[in-house]
Amino acid sequence: MPNIEIILGDITRQAVDAIVNAANCSLLGGGGVDGAIHRAAGPELLAECRTLHGCETGKAKITKGYRLPAKYVIHTPGPVWHGGGYGEEELLRSCYRSCLELAAENGCETVDFPSISTGVYHFPLEKAAPIAVGTIAAFLREHPEIRRVRMVCFDGRTKAFYDRALEELR
Ligand code: ADP
Repeated sequence: MPNIEIILGDITRQAVDAIVNAANCSLLGGGGVDGAIHRAAGPELLAECRTLHGCETGKAKITKGYRLPAKYVIHTPGPVWHGGGYGEEELLRSCYRSCLELAAENGCETVDFPSISTGVYHFPLEKAAPIAVGTIAAFLREHPEIRRVRMVCFDGRTKAFYDRALEELR
């Protein structure tokens, strides 16, 4: 089985090869996990992000981690939930896939994700969690060079949805 773990924690504290940032298309910072990552990484992160000229929803861009314990930050703008009829599910799948492609290209063996789009972007957790774990599992089957992927959940309710999705996958 692919090596996927679900943990409760703060993604800014994780000493892994890459953490993922649930960013917005400007890549210039925001609230939630995005703000926390920029605060912890320091102003050099924003300076590098300014050189990237934004990112489309569902795509991803990579930067260094600066003052974070993680080596890289992979920034991906998740879809805003508009009811499900606007390609939101495929865009969320594309976020997870694009991040893992960049991680593999950059030699990352350990990658931590936050729960993309389920905060202020309002993607329903019961739909987001199976999309996340299913997409990660499919990618890891093709890319054994990535040793471990974790979902770092910030609260118990979120973690419960990802635990259940992983159970249903096994
Ligand atoms: P989005 O705009 O993609 O919905 P948010 O940052 O609003 O992004 O929320 C995404 C998830 O990240 C939510 O579950 C939120 O609780 C969580 N989160 C916020 N801060 C952190 C953190 N420091 N570490 C991990 N997850 C976090």
